[in-house]
Amino acid sequence: MPRLTPLQQELLSDTAIFAVFFIVSALVFWCLHWQRRKELAKMIDYVSSYTRSQGQGSGGASTTGGEPAAEECAVCLGALEDGDVCCVLPACRHEFHRECMRRWFMTGKTNCPLCRTKVQPPAVAEIV
Ligand SMILES: [Zn+2]
Ligand SMILES: [Zn+2]
Repeated sequence: MPRLTPLQQELLSDTAIFAVFFIVSALVFWCLHWQRRKELAKMIDYVSSYTRSQGQGSGGASTTGGEPAAEECAVCLGALEDGDVCCVLPACRHEFHRECMRRWFMTGKTNCPLCRTKVQPPAVAEIV
């Protein structure tokens, strides 16, 4: 191992301090980020999801008439097609692909991509 000059040693310890500082702050950041992600990941569980099947408009069992559901996912602008796993937001009944909605939540947004209605956990939202 080559001998280090005092300057090199100093640089090395500076680098070490920086590295430790960097690792610690990265760890803290990661923890906070992880917590947030966990919360956001749970958001998708708050919306009911279903697989679209032929001849079915929206929601399967809960078709009580009324306005027809949108046939387009506002997140990816793709059609909601038979066999797609979709979800319907509890507050505004807007439909999206479940995967699109999950990605939407993961960007930190907790409202409807279409009408901006806040998506709330069932504990709050389902007491009607
Ligand atoms: Zn979509
Ligand atoms: Zn909506």
